Amino acid sequence: MTRIEKYGWRGPVEPGIGRIVSAHGDYYHLVCNEQAEGEILARKKKSLFSYRKRVERQTKAAFVASARADENADLLTPITGDFVRFRHNPQGESLITEILPRFSHFERKDPTARRKSQTLAVNFDTLFIMMSMNEDFSVARIARYLALAEDMGGGEAVVVVSKIDLRRPGDGEFLDELRACVGTKAKVLEISALTGEGMEALDEYLRPGRTIAFIGSSGVGKSTLLNTLAGEQWAMTQEIQQWSGKGRHTTTSRELSMLPCGTMVIDTPGIREIGMIGERDEIRAKGTCSHRWRK
Ligand code: GDP
Repeated sequence: MTRIEKYGWRGPVEPGIGRIVSAHGDYYHLVCNEQAEGEILARKKKSLFSYRKRVERQTKAAFVASARADENADLLTPITGDFVRFRHNPQGESLITEILPRFSHFERKDPTARRKSQTLAVNFDTLFIMMSMNEDFSVARIARYLALAEDMGGGEAVVVVSKIDLRRPGDGEFLDELRACVGTKAKVLEISALTGEGMEALDEYLRPGRTIAFIGSSGVGKSTLLNTLAGEQWAMTQEIQQWSGKGRHTTTSRELSMLPCGTMVIDTPGIREIGMIGERDEIRAKGTCSHRWRK
């Protein structure tokens, strides 16, 4: 199996195909067959984003109309997890020339179309929607994520209730409400990375060449879960990438990393920090799933 296939590529193996593992403005780190290990640095070709620039110069209303008219507009900005075609330059800067079709994508959208939608994760096999068994618990938020997940193309959504060891007497009612709300749309897993409870249910998703994207608020226990799955190696890289200087860890940018078992994980910024477009309106409008914060 070639390197790019280990990184989830399922198309014909040709030269010049890479997967973006991190993005830094117009520059991207790619993994590819051209390099046996490590990453290459590539810049995106200017014409890839000239359409968006052109559109952004127009008025806001015209922008929304144009973006709607061209469903592919968003594809002009490569993000972590994308498979791309690139021109390799072993001596210097390589150039990304094309973003290959995404088999899954998770976006936050503005139901009123006042703001642009934002693609949070692409090319994942499983979307872990994480929520913890404490103040973070909100059935309405999960309903909102699942509504967004309906348009994600391929891939399976799984609701992961973390810190289940913090469950208190009477909490069964909240979990029942969650299961009723989720219905057949997704599996609901209850786990504790701290005690190991329920962790065996993750095994079916931890397959080599598969990609898992995580969404959820900061503090939900994502790093702890990944530390448990990956060991010290993961903890060290996260320490460097995520220390915010405010005395707590936050995920500031998307990174694609490979766990020792060969599964890739895409970490997305905590949705709470970046604001869920239209979330408040949605919660008010929802009749079937009540918004309930656990006391
Ligand atoms: P992240 O921001 O989603 O990466 O969250 P962290 O992994 O940094 O966890 C936030 C806090 O929750 C830390 O204090 C963890 O020790 C704690 N935590 C994480 N997982 C669990 C768990 O399964 N049970 C309990 N009780 N606490 C947990």
